Amino acid sequence: MTGLSDTFNRPINYLRISVTDRCNLRCIYCLPAEGIRLLPHSEILTYEEIATVARLAAELGINKVRLTGGEPLVRANLPELIAMLADISAIDDISLTTNGVLLEDSASELKRAGLRRVNVSLDSLREDKYEHITRHRKLSQVLQGIETARACGLNPVKINMVVMRGVNDDEVTDFANLTIAEGWHVRFIELMPFATENPPEGHSTAASTNLHPQFIPAQEIKERLNSLGKMEPCKKPVTGNGPAKYYRFPQATGTIGFITPISEHFCFNCNRLRLTAEGSLRPCLLSDDEIDLRQPLRDGAPPEKLKQVITEAIRRKPNQHQLPREPGPKKRLMSQVGG
Ligand code: SAM
Repeated sequence: MTGLSDTFNRPINYLRISVTDRCNLRCIYCLPAEGIRLLPHSEILTYEEIATVARLAAELGINKVRLTGGEPLVRANLPELIAMLADISAIDDISLTTNGVLLEDSASELKRAGLRRVNVSLDSLREDKYEHITRHRKLSQVLQGIETARACGLNPVKINMVVMRGVNDDEVTDFANLTIAEGWHVRFIELMPFATENPPEGHSTAASTNLHPQFIPAQEIKERLNSLGKMEPCKKPVTGNGPAKYYRFPQATGTIGFITPISEHFCFNCNRLRLTAEGSLRPCLLSDDEIDLRQPLRDGAPPEKLKQVITEAIRRKPNQHQLPREPGPKKRLMSQVGG
């Protein structure tokens, strides 16, 4: 393992892999109600192809992998992929981001296959509002999935809440209370201005403003939590590789994290590269730049050539994203990138 840095001397050791563009929810800030144009299965990387990319990336210094989507748990036989990744000795952390709907039934098998931990996206604790946001009535499955994941040892289970003004911001104290009552690890995420409609073929649709109209800065959320007491910054971060800043109420066993891509970007610490479901490497979540890896992979390019493509993607990581000065990404929806 060599250990790779980008042109801004950031060590790159984390690969986020989108395993599918399909999702079993239709969150209002992510997807249109009718869904999106889906990739034909032949265009989606096979598990063997994903494992090959992960192995080469590991030889270049990647040691952490997160599976995402779309919704990763809708892809058949996901534990098979996890077992293949767990066989790569240089990868020491395999995690998953899921909406939790299918987690109850799969958690123990995922754990046995080698998954370390899960993040669950959950934007409301109220059935009606959950249904409004996701366009599905699945809250009880998600809550059950969270409990099962915790019981199986996929810890720490982190709960990711995207906070939207006028939609679910009235629930931030309810979520924060669960760090005290249930020991949950809750992270509040600032809403990013991704488009929610499939870009028409050959055209692009940017989100209509550089800031999402329902955006709330993390500082405002933090102030609202004052009503629960005084949060202390956590000395040691909760396990992970991410950009969250963690706090804790004195009486809590769980933590509160803030992820602030807009109000206080963390690009200077960015350690990640993304692989989309159809095999493009994406140097930055918030920039449309991508490099195709599937074609050389399917053309039988030698490992050294494929590694050059991965290295090139790392070299093309921008210094920082340009939001909110410039519009958000235009060519893809969040579900097509992997979040
Ligand atoms: N289906 C999985 C899930 O729900 O966690 C993984 C994919 S989803 C695209 C990954 C994460 O991106 C979710 O936590 C979702 O809430 C978040 N997300 C999607 N669109 C977003 C946006 N515009 N701003 C902030 N987060 C967003």
